[in-house]
Amino acid sequence: MSKAKQNLEQKQRQNSRQKAKQQQQKKKAKIKKQQLLALMNIQKMFDFGYALIKKARTKKQLEQALQLSKSYMLKIKAIKKHVKVKLPEQIQKGFCKKCYVIFVPDKTVKYRIKHGRAIAICLNCGSKRIIG
Ligand SMILES: [Zn+2]
Repeated sequence: MSKAKQNLEQKQRQNSRQKAKQQQQKKKAKIKKQQLLALMNIQKMFDFGYALIKKARTKKQLEQALQLSKSYMLKIKAIKKHVKVKLPEQIQKGFCKKCYVIFVPDKTVKYRIKHGRAIAICLNCGSKRIIG
């Protein structure tokens, strides 16, 4: 094999390697964009559910808000699993893991401190959770 041919082959190999790298980077960028969008939607849904519970005045309104917030949290859970993102801390500690109700102080959650640790008590199902 002549030297020129060898050089040409080497260049071709390098080119294909570069192309593969670029494709990988494109794929990664796409996933990152998807995750960012998902996080934005998750935050929006969480805020909306939170506001709904906070706004509720009567018992009936609160019940409806709780149901809606539950459906939002289930959606958030599904999205999180699908796009493989880590939830922000505010959301991670902001809902009941048993009944999926969003924590709103004095409406759906009570905070207590026991042995120097903060505990969230869900007012909907009564489960306790250490949050810090
Ligand atoms: Zn609960």
